[in-house]
Amino acid sequence: MIAEGVKTYQNYIGGQWRDGSGKDQLEIRDPANGELVYRSTSSTPEDARAAVQAAKEAYEHSDWAENSVARARGLYKLAEALRARVDDLARLLTREGGKPLSVSRAEVIRGADAIEYYAGLARNVYGRTVNLGPNEMAILMREPVGVVAIIVPWNMALSLLTRSLAPALAAGNAVVIKPASLTPGATAEFIQMIDDLAEVPKGIVNFVVGPGSSVGAELVRHPDVDMVAFTGDTSTGKDIMRMAADTLKKVSLELGGKSPNIVFADADFDRAIRGAITGASLFHAGQVCVAGSRVLVQESIHDEFMKRVNAMAEKMRVGPGLEKGVEVGPVINEGQLNRVMDYVEIGKREADLVVGGKRLTEGELGKGFFIAPTVFDRVPVQATIAQEEIFGPVLSVLTFKDEEEAAEIANATVYGLAAAVWTNDINKALRVAKQVRSGMVWINTFGKLYPNAEMGGFKQSGIGRQYGLEGLWEYTEMKHINIQLQDPKRASRNRVPPIGE
Ligand code: NDP
Repeated sequence: MIAEGVKTYQNYIGGQWRDGSGKDQLEIRDPANGELVYRSTSSTPEDARAAVQAAKEAYEHSDWAENSVARARGLYKLAEALRARVDDLARLLTREGGKPLSVSRAEVIRGADAIEYYAGLARNVYGRTVNLGPNEMAILMREPVGVVAIIVPWNMALSLLTRSLAPALAAGNAVVIKPASLTPGATAEFIQMIDDLAEVPKGIVNFVVGPGSSVGAELVRHPDVDMVAFTGDTSTGKDIMRMAADTLKKVSLELGGKSPNIVFADADFDRAIRGAITGASLFHAGQVCVAGSRVLVQESIHDEFMKRVNAMAEKMRVGPGLEKGVEVGPVINEGQLNRVMDYVEIGKREADLVVGGKRLTEGELGKGFFIAPTVFDRVPVQATIAQEEIFGPVLSVLTFKDEEEAAEIANATVYGLAAAVWTNDINKALRVAKQVRSGMVWINTFGKLYPNAEMGGFKQSGIGRQYGLEGLWEYTEMKHINIQLQDPKRASRNRVPPIGE
């Protein structure tokens, strides 16, 4: 699997590393300086089909689905192994994706945490029983769905994979993983760890690198794939739902957002200002699905708030993620840079540009895709930069008069992934939290996620839940086993007439 010097990663199918049948290898370059980091094989739908077949065979012929003890043990060992690799995997995540090293480290730790949590649940895939009458009862049993295709984006390649993979494996499924073509490397290293541990039967975990439009689409359409767990763009999520309709497979969709960060006049000012900056995920150049990319600030504190936010955004240190003290890394590639800069141009026509708004090219920065943290003020509710997910280091600031207007503006997009409310009045915080239509609402904080507490999207931010028990049930089917007791004395007492007998 490993070539001299620069590594070349392969597919992992049926427990074997092998080249894909795609014509050209992928070259993954560091978005901070354009250096070649590694190469990867590329695949065609043929490789996707081979991976599905391997997964199906392993699911049907191994004892994985029935052996919850082995699943728990395997996942615990994997969590441990991942923790032992925080340093080198974090460096690789930063080199392939650009984010500051501290963010990459947190990502690996979060991944290990999710695996450990689901290791604990692997032996608790329980259903329930219902007493239906004197001679009847139901056993409601949870079974794995079968073969699950997990399709992952590039922005948090490892933590977004593990939060789907861990519950899928804990529930007893077989999986085919398709990473983003821009960031397959850290995932390939993680798959190598699974292979080294040898706790998972061969074929239960498969990994195929290739374009979403062909390899990803093949996985979604394949009749032997029982479920697709997708994280990515809302428009791709819609395509996946359409494609999945033909075989009526189960889908879990974790999609985009335009999360409101609502700051009331009575909030702890210093914390709310820091929350506006960290909430917008400027540290990962805004490339985070839950990013609080809209700050809604109460009119009465607007001027003072903006003075402080602008000063903080201007001071942020932009540079390569591996460099000490860097707070904002590059965006992932040139396409993303152009996309973000197009939004900046649109924003200039719609609102007041008060900080940034330009690509940074001085010195070494010229080798990478760096954009200055950017703040737009007085953004109208219906402006493009207040409605569309930019996925760049761009903050749109809007104002509101009162609680009612804050909730109305918060809900005025097609998205509903996350939101935050900053106030020292807990009654107000909870009233607003109840009105906001999103899967997650933080009060006086932003961005905290836990493997034991669900998150997910309302509206066009997704279908299904990640993390927590609900995140495990996503990867199960419920089976009703109905039992009729033979008891001639009491048979006549059934109150509900049987159908179809
Ligand atoms: P994309 O939707 O472009 O890609 C995500 C994954 O889907 C990639 O692996 C991609 O492959 C694959 N893909 C693309 N087209 C298809 C297709 N037709 N069929 C099957 N698979 C396909 O998203 P990005 O990678 O650009 O990620 C950014 C987006 O992800 C943002 O919108 C962000 O908000 C969202 N996101 C949501 C999160 C959430 O939890 N809600 C978390 C993180 C990100 P390839 O790379 O080869 O194109």
